[in-house]
Amino acid sequence: MDWTLKRVPAEDVRAHMTCLSGSRPCRAEPPARPSRMSATDVADWAWKHTLATGHTRFELIVSSLVECEVRARCE
Ligand SMILES: [Zn+2]
Repeated sequence: MDWTLKRVPAEDVRAHMTCLSGSRPCRAEPPARPSRMSATDVADWAWKHTLATGHTRFELIVSSLVECEVRARCE
């Protein structure tokens, strides 16, 4: 069976960011619950964190809702 994962466009892309700067990583994170932040929200937080601390290395995790969709075979 041929299938693909299709993104559900109505659902927001969710994102999470953690600061990994320093020999012992800072591990600061945005104050809001990760599941409620968009990629733009965490990017804005990272920029403010960089301005405040000079830290520049972050782990960025982005997730979105997808559906498994069966494709008709071309025979
Ligand atoms: Zn930091």
